[in-house]
Amino acid sequence: MSVHESQSSQRSANRARVVQALRQHGAMSRGALAEIGLSRSTVAGVVGELLDAGTVVEVADSPRRDRVTGRPPGLVALNGRLGAAVGVEIANGIVRVAVCTVARELLVHESAPADDTGSPAETLRIVDTLIDKLLAATGYERHQVIGAGVAMPGPIQRRTGLTGRACTLKPWVGLDARAVAAGALGLPVLADNDANLAALAELTWGAARGLRDYAYIYSATGIGAGFVLNGALYVGANGTAGEIGHTTINEDGLVCECGGRGCLNTLANPDAITRQLWQSHRRRPSIEEVIRLAHDGDAGCRRVLADAGTHIGVAMANMYNLLDPELIVLGGNLAAAGAIIIDPLRQSMMRRAIHAGEAVPAVVAGALDQEVVVVIGAAAAVLRDATRFPLPTA
Ligand SMILES: [Zn+2]
Repeated sequence: MSVHESQSSQRSANRARVVQALRQHGAMSRGALAEIGLSRSTVAGVVGELLDAGTVVEVADSPRRDRVTGRPPGLVALNGRLGAAVGVEIANGIVRVAVCTVARELLVHESAPADDTGSPAETLRIVDTLIDKLLAATGYERHQVIGAGVAMPGPIQRRTGLTGRACTLKPWVGLDARAVAAGALGLPVLADNDANLAALAELTWGAARGLRDYAYIYSATGIGAGFVLNGALYVGANGTAGEIGHTTINEDGLVCECGGRGCLNTLANPDAITRQLWQSHRRRPSIEEVIRLAHDGDAGCRRVLADAGTHIGVAMANMYNLLDPELIVLGGNLAAAGAIIIDPLRQSMMRRAIHAGEAVPAVVAGALDQEVVVVIGAAAAVLRDATRFPLPTA
């Protein structure tokens, strides 16, 4: 290789590193870009080339302007017009699609009803129609879509890519969701479970922005968790990391659908919470209604949510003692209960967790709209993965 060729390949490697960092972290200052291991002068040169090529744009950091130059302090971001990422959520009774730019701007999302017993091909036809509609609305062509993230309500086995039997949509069990969706949608696809992808949404846009170690608890039909460790999603050897709903809370408790006894799900999933209100309320309100009534002061509803928080806190203490996250975010359908569930959760956890001095991990409700946290997380997974989903022109 000539000196000239090796310099040019070094330059293109540096451009790729800067693009990769912007994919991972969103808009960054030139100073922050230098911290990825490039000199400030190299960053200045690379950013200049990327600006000329239209790959990145300057964005204002804040409305404040620099006192000396009068210019807003500059951040560098990817140019959102380059392309878009699609998020797809296949859930019980519903599918959702979201479109965001490669610059992490959420443009639009929409849902449609879907039959839980319908074939994956039928479900994906509904998804495909939604994708067409949303791309037309946002002015992106299909070839500008760098990829689609598909969220499934169950674990995906790491080695085989097959949807595990714990998936609550039975027609998908044993299928390679990634391959099936890639074929039906004609796009590069990744597939993961809902809790992992929701964890990425809060990391990218929400309560855990910029953190390196945090735990996300996702409550839907069951309770799952997503762990971000060292800045990346931790999925485990088989893809089942975070199945916190099946950790044992009461060894002599009710038998769980997994065959275990006294799993967290038997005590604190929405089904377990609402079924306790038969006696007091002579009916069984939905979890959303229980939360609404609790906010209005209904003592029984407050009690069952507080008890669920206490049980989740036991599981969180065990998780905390193993992983030591900086933050725990409660998301999904229980997040709307706020302090009614989070205060007892935190107290229960702190009674059992080892903590160093005064350092206690904060427990907060998810900061994003929990109805779309999974589908936008599916798009975030595509945005963050520069290796599998390269930019159209990079
Ligand atoms: Zn179980």
